[in-house]
Amino acid sequence: MALIVQKYGGTSVGSVERIQAVAQRVYKTVKAGNLLVVVLSAMGKTTDGLIKLAHEISKNPNRREMDMLLSTGEQISIALLSMALQELEQPAISLTGAQVGIVTEAEHTRARILDIATERIHRHLNEGKVVVVAGFQGITNSPEWEITTLGRGGSDTSSVAIAAALRANYCEIYTDVPGILTTDPRLVPEAQLMDEITSDEMLELASLGAKVLHPRAVEIARNYGVPLLVRSSWTDDPGTLVISPLPQPRSLINLEIAGSVDDVEFDTDQARVALLRVPDRPGVAARLFGEIARLDVDIDLIIQSIHEGNTNDIAFTVSSDSLNRAEAVASAIAPVLGSQPTTATGVAEVMVQQNIAKVSIVGAGMIGRPGVAAKMFATLAEAGVNIQMISTSEVKVSCVIDSLDCDRAVFALRQAFEIEVAGVGNREWGVGGVGGVGEVTSSSSSLSPPLPTPHSLLPVSPVRGVALDMHQARLAIRQLPDRPGTAAKLFGLLAQHNISVDMIIQSQRCGVIDSVPRRDIAFTVACIDAEEAKDMLAQAAAEFGWGEVVLEAAIAKVSVVGAAMVKQPGVAAKMFEALAKHQINIQMIATSEIKISCVVAQEHGVKALQVIHNAFGLAGSEKIQVSA
Ligand code: ASP
Ligand code: MG
Repeated sequence: MALIVQKYGGTSVGSVERIQAVAQRVYKTVKAGNLLVVVLSAMGKTTDGLIKLAHEISKNPNRREMDMLLSTGEQISIALLSMALQELEQPAISLTGAQVGIVTEAEHTRARILDIATERIHRHLNEGKVVVVAGFQGITNSPEWEITTLGRGGSDTSSVAIAAALRANYCEIYTDVPGILTTDPRLVPEAQLMDEITSDEMLELASLGAKVLHPRAVEIARNYGVPLLVRSSWTDDPGTLVISPLPQPRSLINLEIAGSVDDVEFDTDQARVALLRVPDRPGVAARLFGEIARLDVDIDLIIQSIHEGNTNDIAFTVSSDSLNRAEAVASAIAPVLGSQPTTATGVAEVMVQQNIAKVSIVGAGMIGRPGVAAKMFATLAEAGVNIQMISTSEVKVSCVIDSLDCDRAVFALRQAFEIEVAGVGNREWGVGGVGGVGEVTSSSSSLSPPLPTPHSLLPVSPVRGVALDMHQARLAIRQLPDRPGTAAKLFGLLAQHNISVDMIIQSQRCGVIDSVPRRDIAFTVACIDAEEAKDMLAQAAAEFGWGEVVLEAAIAKVSVVGAAMVKQPGVAAKMFEALAKHQINIQMIATSEIKISCVVAQEHGVKALQVIHNAFGLAGSEKIQVSA
């Protein structure tokens, strides 16, 4: 007998017939010998309709009253499903978030879950009932007991949190698509269904996956090791299995807010090669990394900051023993890239640095929490550590520092994020995936319907999915002092204003102004935050003597993600070559171990997505037609 949580989205319960169809599936699952908790969204477009009503009455509706209003949608669907089950003579009971005891923060319209009481659910399950829970909602602690909601799409989060609290065998998310696809099918009709994906890959694909699965739900799944299945409500097809590493023991208290960082990693076996003043035109990155890939040199971080005049700097790190080969390639290529009027020598300059180290904070819980990266930078600043390169992704922030500072940095970070040394290294990716697989297979024999057995530990293609994000804007601040504390100050300010930052890139080129060495820092933020961030930073720049603040809104970010790209040379080269072949200029590059992101002009976004998806063979056998 398995304990299963099933979640049905709005379309799946959009009409009486569909609710009856859901009841049939629930009934069958129970008859197969399982205990079942069902979490529902509101019917169809109910939530949109309620929001529209509110805006007809008020331009800026009170957030508490919004929660009162929006939480009614789910109350309708749960009551109806419970009745439909009773019609099938299946005992069932519907419960609101408050009745279950889903306790949240007192943040109306975007509350995070703190704690879930399980007694009542267990009692009803033991009575042989199906428990039908309203998704998306919770209640604050006493004495107020205020109704809260979790933010749009939040019933995914409710369902996985309930599965974690109940220690359910797995959680199924039923939706109107067949599962998670390799990219957005509206932009690339040849997108393929994935059989499986790791939760870290899923998080890195947040901008792609968010439409199918709320990123907060994936964070909970990863942190508590909940196997997740995303599948279609209309068929019996297996869908996509989201695999998580075996969970480390973790308290269920403060479920969504505790421990957004669960590891501090470091690597002292790194060296950096930077190419300064390469021409800002399509094909340069492709050429450089193509040559490097041909020598089978594995690149770790790649960073290209925004252009300065008509040139760019590209920097990358390699393991120390590959430095000579990487440097040779860079030096051979530099003169061929074309002479630039901006350089004294007329060619790009190659700069090599040994004695560097990479320190990273890792964890599922950084998305939408700007304070986490800011805390890392502040911790390094307090320890007197200067940051030479920054690279961020959804589950990791990495800083390249002087290797002499490494021990001090790691010690300070572990203290700041309360990481026990014993935990370090246990959750390495790749290994983590094996844990998840073991977990799934060991329990699958007793499950009905069984979870699909994960196909392989490593996908065939090094790239699992490709995402396009058109909702970001790029901000750059010129001439920031290159000394400890600058990044801390900058990103601390953004965090104070609750502005989440996505890619962060520090330029390689260093100029001396007023006898202070200075660099540019560029980063991306959500479009809606861009103007506020710009104004706020312009003020700060005036106050602290920073340079100009530049905003560019017409950008697109395209990312490839795959756990198997680790230690596989050539992935970045292939991505850059695909863009070069179509004359798409790369404005910024940032990478993590399992992700490579490029910022391109917004008008090239869709085409960039299509050609990259195609270049990695994700479109299957059919070739896609890309319009010129
Ligand atoms: N009904 C809510 C919404 O539409 C929550 C959900 O469906 O997940 O956002
Ligand atoms: Mg949804």
